[in-house]
Amino acid sequence: MASRLTTATAPSTTAAHRALERAIRACDSCDLHAERCNPVTGEGSLDARLMIVGSKPRQHEDLQGRPFAGGSGNVLDHVLNAAGLSRSDVYLTTVVKCRPDDDRAPSPDEILACLPHLAAERELVAPEVIVTLGAFTTSVLLRRAVPIERVAGYRLDVDGVTLIPTYHPADAVRGVPQAAVSLRRDLAMAKAVLDGRLSTGAEAMAELRRRRPESN
Ligand code: SF4
Repeated sequence: MASRLTTATAPSTTAAHRALERAIRACDSCDLHAERCNPVTGEGSLDARLMIVGSKPRQHEDLQGRPFAGGSGNVLDHVLNAAGLSRSDVYLTTVVKCRPDDDRAPSPDEILACLPHLAAERELVAPEVIVTLGAFTTSVLLRRAVPIERVAGYRLDVDGVTLIPTYHPADAVRGVPQAAVSLRRDLAMAKAVLDGRLSTGAEAMAELRRRRPESN
């Protein structure tokens, strides 16, 4: 039997999330605040055991003020459903909350300015598993540059949380080879970890270390 995907939300968590949403809407900590239509605050279940993190708002997200709208959102909904999940089972958010001009990559200063918002979301939701979408987000959360094609589908451990990198839904929309297949596989993997059918990131990494031949 599948395990619960969420736990009970304390009223104080809901109040703290509303305060965080207000703080993000009022935020002018970096230059992106002048270019946005709407900042994009995270949404979904505040007691989710699974958090899904994307990179930044694009046009549809900026217009709607919601994460994963438009074509990327359709792809994400599809792979969530295929894994037996829905948006209400998870918490969705992005590293940077305001849309950069021309959809460029956020600068290091903009990332640094916005990270406290993501840290607050992680503290509030306290997920057991985080799926990072795309190389940008994965590199930010791992604190080192990583090519997504090398790490997608691994179960890693970051501060006691299982981190599963995968491709961004926008990669699938663009037709990047392997993106759709990897997304579907890796969301199913996240569900299996939550259900206890697959080992956690800490367990998987310990197993990898045991199997790795000793290096000189
Ligand atoms: S991108 Fe983040 S830090 Fe910059 S203005 Fe928006 S919410 Fe604030």
